[in-house]
Amino acid sequence: MSSRVTTCPACGTKNRVPVASTGRVQCASCHAPLPWLVDATDADFAAATDTDQLVLVDLWAPWCGPCRMVAPILERLSVQYAGRVKVVKVNVDHNPAIASRFDARSIPTLVMLRRGETVARVVGAENEASLKRRIDAALG
Ligand SMILES: [Zn+2]
Repeated sequence: MSSRVTTCPACGTKNRVPVASTGRVQCASCHAPLPWLVDATDADFAAATDTDQLVLVDLWAPWCGPCRMVAPILERLSVQYAGRVKVVKVNVDHNPAIASRFDARSIPTLVMLRRGETVARVVGAENEASLKRRIDAALG
């Protein structure tokens, strides 16, 4: 299972965060919820989105300028919403099945999933305040 290293915002400990887990992702040192931002593929997307947390799927590509503007916003949101929102990034060039499933003809396309069901969809880059309002609405 692939993973990435995330620094705990509470204590600074570096933790290895799995792409997929049905449990909570928390700091090994202080047990604070960790930001959960992962790169998923056609192969592991189903496992990556199998979580009780709200999932924010980012359909992006390296050549897409607006995607690069959204990327650091999503990094910050994953910290602010640690324990509540999981960010799953999918490179549409390498993962055509997921791109097709979410009809990502224009990118960035952001899709919010709650237990596999689409609860919101955002096409095009938006600023951080706007995305926070949408996430707050989806979290209810
Ligand atoms: Zn910690």
